[in-house]
Order: sequence, then C-alpha cells, then structure tokens
Amino acid sequence: MPVLRPQTVRSPRGTRLALRAAPLAGALLALLLPLAVQAADDVRMVRDDVTLVYRDASGALDDAMREHIVHTFFATYLPQRAAFNPAAATSVDIVIDPDYEGVAFVDNQDGRATMTINPAWLHDKPGDVDLVTHEAMHIVQAYPGYGDGAPVWLTEGIADYVRDAYGLDNAAGGWALPTTVEPEHRYDTGYRVSGAFLKWAEGEHPGLVAGLDDALRRGRYTPALWTTLTGHDIDTLWATYAETRTRPEEATG
Ligand SMILES: [Zn+2]
Repeated sequence: MPVLRPQTVRSPRGTRLALRAAPLAGALLALLLPLAVQAADDVRMVRDDVTLVYRDASGALDDAMREHIVHTFFATYLPQRAAFNPAAATSVDIVIDPDYEGVAFVDNQDGRATMTINPAWLHDKPGDVDLVTHEAMHIVQAYPGYGDGAPVWLTEGIADYVRDAYGLDNAAGGWALPTTVEPEHRYDTGYRVSGAFLKWAEGEHPGLVAGLDDALRRGRYTPALWTTLTGHDIDTLWATYAETRTRPEEATG
C-alpha cells in the first residue's frame, strides 16, 4: 500500500520563528499549532469506489498505527462489502477520539459512515487492529433497527464471524473464536460465542450467514428463518453444536 503522509505540521517559517525564540512568536505558534495539527492529520484516500478520511485531531496515534488502521480498513472492508453488501457506504470517516470511552463504534447514515475509535484501547493493545475489521462489517451490515428488528447478539455475532474470516492478524491481538462451549454460553450470548456458533453452522449449511445478513438488512429477519435456511430450529442447531464442542473436553477430563 502507498505510504500515507499527512502534510507537514511545522512549516519552515514556523520553525524559524520558534528557533529565534521570540516570546511573542512562541506564544503565537502555541496558539496556532493545534489548528495546524487538526488540518495536518486529516488523511484522505480512495480505493476502488470507497473514500476514506482518517481524522486524528489530537494526534493520539502515531504514523505507524495510522497506516496499520488504514491498511486494515481497506484490506477488509472492500472484500466484506463485495461479499455481503455492494451498496454499503462509499464514504467512510475513521475518527480517533480520546473522549470516547468504549472501544469503537460505527454510525451509519445515508451511505456515509463514521467509525470512531478510542486510541487508549490501541495504546494498551496495539496488536488489536482487527477491531477495525469487526467495525467495518457494521458498516457493511447497515441493518435497520439495531437491537430492534436486528437482534444485537446476531448483529455482533456476525461481525465477529467476519472478523475471524477476514481479519488480517487476529492472533496479534490475542483474539480468536472460542473452540469450546461453556455451560453459561447460549447461541444468543453474542460476539465471539455467537460468532463461533455461526462459523460451525455455516460449515454445516453453506450460505447461512449470507442469508441471515440479507434478511437482517431487509428488515425481514425472524427466528423462523433458521429453519427455512437449515431445516432445523435454532435451539436444535445450538444443542447439536454444543454437543460436538463439549464432547472432546469430557473425553479428556
Ligand atoms: Zn460490534
């Protein structure tokens, strides 16, 4: 991928002013610098028909992390979009926001999406850049009614199923789908637990995840869809899955 370089923050004239150490010029530079950083850190890139603007107004993440995020975004969003929803947003902002206290989230409206990322999370877990892969799937999903017509557990389960399938280096983030089923797990536990169930179910019934995703996007998802797509209701599917996942543990334990 091309190396991304924001426009330089310090102009030669600004540097000279600072070096001459005039108190007034220094104060002026201090006032102007935050504005310069804000403008300098906007990076705009186009791949295929998708435009990405990366914005880190406070300079919270370094250049290497910015390139890693941008690379991961394009490398995972474009194939996800092609596979699941070619009509997904063509205009995406990635905003690095130190004031956001969660990990990351997506706001998706009218073909334009914003992915907000808390830089503190990546400071603590710099290998976890594939969180971008999960969030990119939320842009692709564009389901109406998160938590209403589109159940949260299934929306997040599909995003983690996709992170497993499309992620560039999940191992670097210590991230993996679980290979065992714990007693407290259910199909609707969400995130990785549901993602692992979806991966198994897709293996048994190829096309299942695409069928669920399509129905969710159309606002036509109902639990009966599992029976339509697999011939089994979801409780039966989960029971079969849980049995296959817990048997080896019992055999060795
Ligand atoms: Zn999510």
